[in-house]
Amino acid sequence: MKQETRALHVGYDKNDFGTMSVPIYQTTAYDFGSADHAANLFALKELGPIYTRLNNPTTDIFEARIASVEGGEAALATASGHSAVLFALINLASAGDNIIVSNKVYGGTTTLTTHTLKRFGINCKIFDSSSAENLEDLIDEDTKAIFFESLSNPQVAIPNIDKIVEIANKYDVVTICDNTVATPILFQPLSLGVDVVVHSTSKYINGQGSALGGALIQRLGLNDKLIGNIRYSQFNEPDPSYHGLIYAQLPFPMFILRARLSLMRDFGATPSPFNSWLFIQGLETLHVRMKEHSKNAYKIAKYLKSHPKVISVSYPGLEDDRQHHLAQKYFKDSMSSGLLNFEVEDFEFAKKILDSTKIFSVVVNIGDSKSIITHPASTTHNQVPIEELEKAGINPGSIRVSVGLENADDLIKDLEQALE
Ligand SMILES: *Cc1c(COP(=O)(O)O)cnc(C)c1O
Repeated sequence: MKQETRALHVGYDKNDFGTMSVPIYQTTAYDFGSADHAANLFALKELGPIYTRLNNPTTDIFEARIASVEGGEAALATASGHSAVLFALINLASAGDNIIVSNKVYGGTTTLTTHTLKRFGINCKIFDSSSAENLEDLIDEDTKAIFFESLSNPQVAIPNIDKIVEIANKYDVVTICDNTVATPILFQPLSLGVDVVVHSTSKYINGQGSALGGALIQRLGLNDKLIGNIRYSQFNEPDPSYHGLIYAQLPFPMFILRARLSLMRDFGATPSPFNSWLFIQGLETLHVRMKEHSKNAYKIAKYLKSHPKVISVSYPGLEDDRQHHLAQKYFKDSMSSGLLNFEVEDFEFAKKILDSTKIFSVVVNIGDSKSIITHPASTTHNQVPIEELEKAGINPGSIRVSVGLENADDLIKDLEQALE
């Protein structure tokens, strides 16, 4: 089956109940029926729901669907995108280890990796994901993960994915790609050999800014990379917290299984069944929406590029964008999602534009069906010194736009009057 069909059907047999919409199992726990069945579930001799912190039938369907749409083997849904990023990293790295993270990632991922994880003994090294030039030099025997975004938020940078995967595989290091902005409709990192994909499903997968969530998905074949790999003893040696279980000896996708049995068990960043249901609804229409987001963003990028008061526009989908060759190489039909950046003369003019728009909302979110405009220098990045801002590719006059699904002509008219 093709991706669009899988997004609508995988994981749910409607003959079970005859309901067209997936049921929401709003429950905390499950009746085991017998002591034996309960014991078998806990011993992993049988698989089934135990307690909603670990699994839930509605969430199971969402997990099966997102795994399928990403072209992966298995998925774990989490309470937020951030907990998905955290789980992916700490499923691989422990105190004393290091991780290598792209210089162009979501601001929250930077604070998590460079500051908070450091408090727990995990060191973070930064690499330039556009060239992947210094990546190989940074890898040592304690390196456990290489993390990057397929289309970075907010810079809309596209990494040198082929080179990153090649170097990682040379050293048997696991790669993690945050595919939130591109979504599996435009790009499927696992098909290029990336090992793990993470998502903030709060963005395009939800699509309407109505719920926070996340997911991690493992590549089919990742088990083979982990089995016997001396970097990852946690998968190959007995787990004392699970009566000596050895993940490498089980016939299951072990990255996801360990994230569920160990991390979800102990940290509890569980999605609510209702939110899982919202993400199932979102996945059903994702392919239609991503095309429209991309089409609208393309039109707006083209308009802004021709405007005399706009200094520059960054949108990889535009034919004359400096990253267009990468959009062509990696993304479906060169579509590059709904996110774009443009720059005007200064801080004050940028703020005036935000205050003058009527359809765009001044919000720090992306991926909503309603258009959003943000001025990083006065909001998300206002504590960052000018030199560091510039290093992150953000100037005082930079504006980020998440183009929604309104009529593009209305959006252009709104920007036109705001730019006067
Ligand atoms: C929003 C976002 C996150 C964090 O996700 P939440 O759902 O807000 O916790 C991580 N990565 C990217 C690329 C994002 O845009």
